[in-house]
Amino acid sequence: MAQRASQPRQRLSSSQVSMDKLVSLCKRRGLVFPSSEIYGGLGSTWDYGPLGVELKKNIKDAWWRSLVQSRDDVVGIDAAILMHPQVWVASGHAEGFSDPMVECKECNRRWRVDEVIIHNMVSDSKCPECSAVDSFTEPRQFNLMFKTFVGPVEEGAAQVWLRPETAQGIFVNFSNVLNTTRKKLPFGVAQIGKAFRNEITPGNFIFRSREFEQMEMEFFVKPGTDDEWFRYWVEERYHWYKGLGIREENLRLRPHGDDELAHYARGCYDVEYLFPIGWSELEGIANRGNFDLSQHASYSGKDMSYFDEETSQRYTPYVIEPSAGVDRSALAFLVDAYDEESDPSPTSGQGKEEVRVVLRFHHDIAPVKVAVLPLSRKEPLADRARDIYAELRKHWVVQYDEAQSIGRRYRRQDEIGTPLCVTVDFQTLEDNAVTIRHRDDMGQIRVPVSGLADTLRHKLAGEDIMVLPPGGAVWKTGGE
Ligand code: ATP
Repeated sequence: MAQRASQPRQRLSSSQVSMDKLVSLCKRRGLVFPSSEIYGGLGSTWDYGPLGVELKKNIKDAWWRSLVQSRDDVVGIDAAILMHPQVWVASGHAEGFSDPMVECKECNRRWRVDEVIIHNMVSDSKCPECSAVDSFTEPRQFNLMFKTFVGPVEEGAAQVWLRPETAQGIFVNFSNVLNTTRKKLPFGVAQIGKAFRNEITPGNFIFRSREFEQMEMEFFVKPGTDDEWFRYWVEERYHWYKGLGIREENLRLRPHGDDELAHYARGCYDVEYLFPIGWSELEGIANRGNFDLSQHASYSGKDMSYFDEETSQRYTPYVIEPSAGVDRSALAFLVDAYDEESDPSPTSGQGKEEVRVVLRFHHDIAPVKVAVLPLSRKEPLADRARDIYAELRKHWVVQYDEAQSIGRRYRRQDEIGTPLCVTVDFQTLEDNAVTIRHRDDMGQIRVPVSGLADTLRHKLAGEDIMVLPPGGAVWKTGGE
């Protein structure tokens, strides 16, 4: 039998993906659950399930590998979430980290002013919730930082903030890192961690929540070289998403207009993704000049300058900041991977048209890399399959699934984006070979069990493999 020829077909575009279907798939398969669901949930907070946590870990690992481990000019840190309150005074967040907000007097729903403007084109028209006309209050500034208290007494002196970004943890450690690593400019400091914002209008699943994770890097450079490094990081970050399989037509770079730039920023680009809600920010890359280090130097009284041995000059470095969201990236990877096609081998057996839902994740992003599927639960087949499973688990996140028909098991793995299934059948007991089935084209190939991990590694790296059994023939089987 010939291997299934992969049919050229149109993939579902990201704007056609239904958010409702994605949310329900995420819940059904253990990717993302509504938080505190048994108590009715807490608005716009989400819990990542067993597969969601793997997905997020893969995104963070890919980012860390690309920005930290594979470079010798970037190091990492992990700063505390609670910081001295003066940090947020110096950074400008205590005073200025706010969105103008209006409230509808009819339904009491609060809106960010820019959202109402975008929705209605003019700010004083209809409330998007209850359609009341001219019912908005005057805009008020609303600080997005969450307050809390350290120690037993809830008084002003004990008040601290939950950090609204990870970046400040890097700036306040600039001298610590410089002195302990002896890095020379240009160099970067990276961090991944939780951030908290009391968003007025969170929503759209994990796109905007009040608790989320950021991946941020501050790249310190000599003033005058900042434009060049800014362009470099904008390109790098765009290509990072592409390299992990995000389709080019769904990605774009958008420069900020002068009216959008913070007063100190010398330039900013957003990497935008075409979400089902339209083009929206996935990551921001900003040239922040020397604003942050200068502010901390002035508020703390500590020296934040750099001595350049080459030129014997002392100056405050400029900084280029790529700032991405883990959760927002996870949503982009999910949307981009989501596909539906009519099922060529329906599992119902009734001959009626079924839909195959498949998450076409890049292999590095897929939460589960391999599934081991024995054709029967009975011994000695199950025993053999479990041995194979135990061996493969040493290398990757692997699932073992013996419940229901093989067709249904393939579909379950397709739905969570597992690239490769290893099927152990009765012939395995005789020829010591298994079938590998690939998620995307459903093509199958029969390979020896010995060296299986290596074979899978090649497949996961996207390499084509030809397996020559002792007889010398190319050994391939048909699709499903
Ligand atoms: P937005 O305009 O969407 O509110 P922002 O410009 O305030 O975003 P930044 O402060 O630049 O966002 O934060 C960097 C990144 O952190 C964003 O590109 C996004 O990926 C992520 N992020 C920011 N706020 C949230 C949130 N409330 N929920 C999830 N991710 C977020």
